[in-house]
Amino acid sequence: MVNPYKEYLNQDDDFSASLYQRTEELNQIDNAKPDAEGKIQLSAIVLDHAITLPHMVSPLFINPGRDLFAIQQAQENSETIIGIIPEEKAGFMEICLELAVGRLLELPDGNYSALVQGRRRLKVERIIETANSISVQAYILEKKEIPLDNHLRALMKTARLLFEQVVQLDSAIPEEAHLFSMNIDDPGWLADMIATAISPSNEQRMEIIATIDEKERLAYLNQLLAEELDVLELEEEIQSRVQNEVDRGQREVYLREQIKAIQLELGEGDLWEQEIREYQDRLEKSGFPENVKSTIQAEIKKMSLNPVLSPESGIIRNYIDWLVSLPWGKKSEDNLSIRHAEKVLKKNHYGLNKAKERILEYLAVRSLQTNHIRQPVLCFIGPPGTGKSSLGRSIAESLGRKFARISLGGIRDEAEIRGHRRTYISALPGRIIQTIKTAGTRNPLFMLDEIDKMGFDFRGDPSSALLEVLDQEQNSEFSDHYLEIPFDLSDVLFITTANSTENIPPALLDRLEMIEFPGYIEEEKIEIAKQFLILKQKHENGLITDETHFKIEAITRIIHEYTYEAGVRNLEREIGRICRKIAKLKSLQKPVPEVIEPDMLEKYLGPPQFFSFNAETDDGVGVSTAIAWTENGGEIMPVEVLIMEGKGNLQITGKIGDMMQESAQAALSYIKSRSEEFDIDMDIYEKIDIHLHIPEGAIEKDGPSAGITICTAMISALTKRKVRMNIGMTGELTLRGRILQVGGLKEKIYAARRAGLKKIIIPKKNEKDLAEIPSKVKKELKIVCAEHIDQVIKLALYP
Ligand code: ADP
Repeated sequence: MVNPYKEYLNQDDDFSASLYQRTEELNQIDNAKPDAEGKIQLSAIVLDHAITLPHMVSPLFINPGRDLFAIQQAQENSETIIGIIPEEKAGFMEICLELAVGRLLELPDGNYSALVQGRRRLKVERIIETANSISVQAYILEKKEIPLDNHLRALMKTARLLFEQVVQLDSAIPEEAHLFSMNIDDPGWLADMIATAISPSNEQRMEIIATIDEKERLAYLNQLLAEELDVLELEEEIQSRVQNEVDRGQREVYLREQIKAIQLELGEGDLWEQEIREYQDRLEKSGFPENVKSTIQAEIKKMSLNPVLSPESGIIRNYIDWLVSLPWGKKSEDNLSIRHAEKVLKKNHYGLNKAKERILEYLAVRSLQTNHIRQPVLCFIGPPGTGKSSLGRSIAESLGRKFARISLGGIRDEAEIRGHRRTYISALPGRIIQTIKTAGTRNPLFMLDEIDKMGFDFRGDPSSALLEVLDQEQNSEFSDHYLEIPFDLSDVLFITTANSTENIPPALLDRLEMIEFPGYIEEEKIEIAKQFLILKQKHENGLITDETHFKIEAITRIIHEYTYEAGVRNLEREIGRICRKIAKLKSLQKPVPEVIEPDMLEKYLGPPQFFSFNAETDDGVGVSTAIAWTENGGEIMPVEVLIMEGKGNLQITGKIGDMMQESAQAALSYIKSRSEEFDIDMDIYEKIDIHLHIPEGAIEKDGPSAGITICTAMISALTKRKVRMNIGMTGELTLRGRILQVGGLKEKIYAARRAGLKKIIIPKKNEKDLAEIPSKVKKELKIVCAEHIDQVIKLALYP
């Protein structure tokens, strides 16, 4: 942008003063006098473009010839002349300018220059052109005195404000230009002055000249100013960004030089090189497979070529770190002595005989084969706290392997198993490789917990990645997205755990061999507490082994009144709480109880949380006791039926699935078909609604096994016969009243006993499962095997 004031500024720093001085001589030339019609006639020059505006001064270049002659003439007569402005359509603009021309200066190239001052806008009436001269007849556009209204004032204020900002950003316009604009009170002049200062394009200047109305001219100027400001702001932003980048680059170079200087000063040589040498050393001593070595070698080379602080070197260094810290070749020796394994399992765990036996067989097979034959992956199935993880740990101990464990619960992303590609910022290997690194050998015992709790979504199915991990055909070449080099997982001993087989993806289920952990009966829990949990908790809380003895009755009471579970996790937690309280007493040097009696529990654990089932008071009409299977073991729950006036609807509420719907429909149909025998009036079904409610717990799939319980509650509600609530029942019902087999019987029987039921009814078809139930349980809990619902009705309903 050319500064129109440059010329004046060179002379003197004070812009206004210099402008004044330089225009002194021009001011001596008077404007032309109009004739009676307000017309003037003057010789004219053709301006190349709209160079100046009224009140403003600018330099003019003049070629020798017609224009020079006209100017010389005007100066001789001390007259003004007219400047006409070429325009594409009409030849010349309709508006022209009256100008005063200053002293002529001859330039070295033979041309001339002079200062011209804009005087007035004129309206062209006639252009008289001859070979040697042009003259113009024009009207003076009389300046109307317009009132300085609010609108005009606002326009002027805006113009000054915008101009101030432009001046601040545009170094080509002197500060004084703004001051100058502040002192102009005439709106038209203000517009012309600012328009000159911001050096608009020729078209824009022509527009300014042609806009006679001062309000319009100011409005147009403000638009120009706003656009100019936009451009200037953008320019500044770009500049500062560029500057920033330059600064950062310079800073980095500077810092790097400093590091070098410091290192030299400390006699450390180049740390970067040292680091690279260290990687090289580690690699040489590592004994890694060749392909791993060559990849690392290539990465080290890449690293040495990159500048120390570049983002790339960070990524490469991370990658090398991962590669060199993985146990590519490191294996622990297996102790395959079955005797030893047996001892360890026995030492660490009470009971669990079936699981232990199966594990020993599994280890025996492994010990016999030199090349591993494919063995299925073991899957420990059972409720929480039944010893699955701790048994896994014991197996690792007996084999002399490292133990590693991850929980797959809630994992939905394949990348969690298999890692992210390195193109991701902050990419990492997947959980499998991460855990192998922590384990430190390539043959740990690796527990994958909660494989039934994995999800999947748009980010890919983690179970398919898991299949590859577990598949012995593929896992010697397990590919993690981050590592890129395959890692051999074939020597890892994988053991999976789950609460139920229900949600394990079928493809995975195929490869697993289930070992059940059904939960413990009370006697087993007491033994586990006595032999393991109390000792463990005393140890963890800093108590001595023979300090404070737990009475059996106290343990029993904790089991009954403070826990309700298939496993022993909460039992261990409650024992831990008591141990902590005692440890506190001890540290405060207060007397510590020698024996924990049942009646002391409230003091340590607060009021009891669970109460045993009180059958007698609970007996009622329309309620019966179901024993259900859940992921946490067995559970007993009331099934409630209510009869109301209505239109024959069956309504079901509670946490139930379609299965339960069907069971309820089947039960109702059976009852209807036998109404006469149950002494129920056939017409009644049309006049009532039946509402069935199953409070909570039971998972959907367990639906059918509540069949006989629902039927019993319905008959009771319809006949008003009371139900014996201390009889629990499980069994699927057919439309003809026969009882079908159910699953999870062991857990259900344990749950019935835990809840204090006296008698349970199970399907005759499940009788074979009773062989697995400890005789102590069978002695205490009367188990009736029924084939038909009639037997159930006879036992459960009062006459
Ligand atoms: P899970 O993995 O099935 O949820 P854990 O293995 O974590 O259960 O067991 C919970 C606690 O109970 C652990 O402290 C464990 O040592 C103990 N435990 C469970 N079963 C036994 C058992 N049969 N013998 C000894 N301790 C047991």
